[in-house]
Amino acid sequence: MKSQEFESQVLKTIRENSLIKKGEKVIVAMSGGKDSTTVAYLLKKFGYNPEALHINLHMGKWSDDNMENVKTMCRQNKIPLHIFSIKKEMGNTICYIKQVVGSETNYKQCTICGILRRWLINKKARSLGAKKLATGHNLDDEAQTALMNLFKGNIMLGINSGPKVGLFEDRMFVTRIKPLYYCKEDDVRKYAQSMSFPVLYQRCPCVMGAYRHEVRNHLNELEKKNPKLKENIVKSFSKILPLLREQVKTNSIRYCKECGEPSRNDVCKACQIRMKIR
Ligand code: AMP
Ligand code: ZN
Repeated sequence: MKSQEFESQVLKTIRENSLIKKGEKVIVAMSGGKDSTTVAYLLKKFGYNPEALHINLHMGKWSDDNMENVKTMCRQNKIPLHIFSIKKEMGNTICYIKQVVGSETNYKQCTICGILRRWLINKKARSLGAKKLATGHNLDDEAQTALMNLFKGNIMLGINSGPKVGLFEDRMFVTRIKPLYYCKEDDVRKYAQSMSFPVLYQRCPCVMGAYRHEVRNHLNELEKKNPKLKENIVKSFSKILPLLREQVKTNSIRYCKECGEPSRNDVCKACQIRMKIR
């Protein structure tokens, strides 16, 4: 796929799904990886004037390099950047939290990290006044998620899928948007490489052994025989998504008793984790 074709695909996703309205404040959650870096670059190029938010996970050299790359990218493209530290916000490093909480619960390490990151990103994006929060999720991520939920026997978990996440306008929940929703990971990688973005292409050093990693490998194998496989999974799932959302809409939204963030339970998962390390 040529660079221009790739850019058109992203712009089409933004326009056809009304991801950003004119003048809305949009913040990109930048990890330092190729996907969210591409999102920040393209939103700037398309004239949406994004800002960026980075969470320093303090995982040694890997985190240091990612943070430096995010800083370089934002400086080069005149994107205002806000950096937060998980250690400062939680009082402990992510590795410590994962160890303690991982041994006391049946949460997987990547799950713990993901819950805390999403919680912090939503809280900070809201305090910065964002109307939309853009992430780097791509077609591969979405196909993996759809299958993993199906394998778990809980397709309802997929209500957070789709190019725009946020069931209804809620003062506490910043609507998440995914401009790369229809882009294959391979195409994102090629685009980022062709643009010489300062990014690390390795996955997080802790990801090995994660279930998602296995599903990713299986899908990549199957895709060799059916190039439209991931697109077909995501498009099929999109057809049932409105039905799933309709069911949830009937239950009113709840807020965590501890932190006030939107939650499906009395106490949100992030606070359940935070209580274990207090
Ligand atoms: P992941 O859960 O690692 O697949 O990341 C999903 C999305 O969350 C990425 O595409 C980024 O937009 C965002 N993200 C992940 N890690 C960070 C981070 N350390 N700081 C800010 N945003 C992040
Ligand atoms: Zn909470």
